[in-house]
Amino acid sequence: MKVRKKCIKRIFFLFILVFFPFCRGTTIPDSNPEIKTEKVRIELSCVLESGENIDYILQEMAIESNERYKITECLKEYLDMRSCMPGDSIIVFKDLDENFLKLDYVKNIFMRFTVTKIDTFYKAEKIEIPPSIAISTITGTVSSSLYETFLGIGESHELVFDYADIFAWVIDFLTEVQNGDTFEIIVEREFFKNNFIRNKRIIAASYKGEIGTYYAFYFMDLDGKEDYYDEVGNSLRKQLLKTPLQYRRISSYFSLRRLHPILKVRRPHYGVDFAAPNGTPISSVGDGHVVFAGWKGGYGKLVVINHPNSFKTYYGHLSRIKKGIVAGAKVKQGEVIGNVGSTGLSTGPHLHFGIKKYGKWINPLKVDLPPADPISEKYKELYLEEMEKLKLGMLFFCCFKPRPL
Ligand SMILES: [Zn+2]
Repeated sequence: MKVRKKCIKRIFFLFILVFFPFCRGTTIPDSNPEIKTEKVRIELSCVLESGENIDYILQEMAIESNERYKITECLKEYLDMRSCMPGDSIIVFKDLDENFLKLDYVKNIFMRFTVTKIDTFYKAEKIEIPPSIAISTITGTVSSSLYETFLGIGESHELVFDYADIFAWVIDFLTEVQNGDTFEIIVEREFFKNNFIRNKRIIAASYKGEIGTYYAFYFMDLDGKEDYYDEVGNSLRKQLLKTPLQYRRISSYFSLRRLHPILKVRRPHYGVDFAAPNGTPISSVGDGHVVFAGWKGGYGKLVVINHPNSFKTYYGHLSRIKKGIVAGAKVKQGEVIGNVGSTGLSTGPHLHFGIKKYGKWINPLKVDLPPADPISEKYKELYLEEMEKLKLGMLFFCCFKPRPL
């Protein structure tokens, strides 16, 4: 039999155990009540690769064309062949005489398709085992960075990012986090046969520290609008993000009288310098329109964006302005507009970030950012009801510290 190297062939014994239960009043056979039979099967398994299809794999597994046709036709009743993707697995079972017994087409751990040969017939089936969702609560106390704290309690880095994203508009996790601050998260978790698969949506979260207490509650209204809101129904998102990049440190603050590192004269510094490695992506802090993108004197490569509510943001010393970021272009909040560099009057890679409000420079670290739309009035009551339940749940878990799942 010709079988490609990548197909794994296994021969194994199948034990069939038959038990005769003890029943009062019935005759119990004198012989051993447990009868054991055994059978040998051949299992061939293969992973679908790009450009391959089921017929090809079955051919590789030495199944005759007539039988291949019957198997695939039968499978088509349940499986859309266009959905077959590289990475799907095919397992074929044969008897010792190489006769086809069964095919297992495994899409993922939750879904498989089978074709079983019964006498001269073929029977297809779709077997689906949906994952179970459990609600879990995570509590923690910050020691070192938030990221390390999450990993330290056995949580994934995806969860830290999801959590940090929710509060990105109100907390700067790089500068405002202190040891001893606490956090709590209620998250949906996906399980398959009691094994943890992944975290799904965070449905509630809190952060408590010297900077204050923050809550976030997920809510989707009946019109399908979803967001995270605070305790009174205001969106956690602001019209402008707190920072346009993941920076290492602030190398220079907003100042009306700063000794310029290159010019060696005292002059105002109308912005904040965020030190970050060359090439670090820079995002627009809000929705808006590009009003300038190009070289401008000491700024080097500069992007200026106009936002609603009379805000204007400046991003200077860029190494590169992203393609398509030109005057008049529309940008979304969080959209990458360029990369950190050291162009213009600069001593090292950093982003000079400035904000103007009504045409006047303001301190980006102190700006009071207007929030995005709050929860709509017609759903507010419903939201507050849901929110109270979640908050109570958080308090409950916080006091009783249940076992993690
Ligand atoms: Zn600067």
